[in-house]
Amino acid sequence: MAQVAISNVAKAFGTVKVLHDVSVDIADGQFVVLVGPSGCGKSTLLRMVAGLETVSGGTIAIGDRVVNHLPPAKRDIAMVFQNYALYPHKTVEQNMAFALKLRKTDPAVVKERVKRAADILDLNPYLKRYPRQLSGGQRQRVAMGRAIVRNPQVFLFDEPLSNLDAKLRVQMRTEIKELHQRLKTTTIYVTHDQIEAMTMADKIVVMRDGRIEQIGAPLELFDRPANLFVAGFIGSPS
Ligand code: ADP
Ligand code: MG
Repeated sequence: MAQVAISNVAKAFGTVKVLHDVSVDIADGQFVVLVGPSGCGKSTLLRMVAGLETVSGGTIAIGDRVVNHLPPAKRDIAMVFQNYALYPHKTVEQNMAFALKLRKTDPAVVKERVKRAADILDLNPYLKRYPRQLSGGQRQRVAMGRAIVRNPQVFLFDEPLSNLDAKLRVQMRTEIKELHQRLKTTTIYVTHDQIEAMTMADKIVVMRDGRIEQIGAPLELFDRPANLFVAGFIGSPS
């Protein structure tokens, strides 16, 4: 696993600045949630950690490497999106194996990693099925399986549950936390849902308009919000 250090990071699209001097330290194995209203810059920050956006200022380090100029494939991260876009013409097993095959991984290793992911995620009964034959929760598990098989140092989640119904969201929250307790992979999880943040995070980063309002453990934010924005955001029902 690895620590992640986001130091004084800024981002501009053309002349529009969307992130200002953002610093977050994420310890090895920690589960950190970035939370804030739509448009505040959560996805942009996560995509910069993933290497999908360039960094306009500051540095991002994963482990002991500054990764600002490393392409996504060299960063040892795996990302799970809201629209997890499984390959429709591949089975569950093939979906999970694909990224490893692209990287010319030894077939025996591919087999072992896919088996392990299927065990962890209870996907064994569905390995020969196609995505259209799965429920929303099962598809989400396959998306996580594709991330797990790569044995990344860091997991990045961008609102992975927002397409699921309320009941399934609660269940998947628990499953993702259990997965984290089992694998202890350093995780950055983005959501606009404060309940998700409060129940899942070791540490919450509250963002607004491209800036950090407060960083702290869930109870700390609840007991001692730094300002009215944090108090209102954390205290309001989702
Ligand atoms: P969040 O994920 O918190 O909803 P985003 O990171 O997606 O917010 O967006 C932050 C801001 O950056 C928004 O104002 C958005 O319109 C802008 N933005 C995001 N991506 C781009 C882009 N590729 N080009 C221009 N502006 C962008
Ligand atoms: Mg977003």
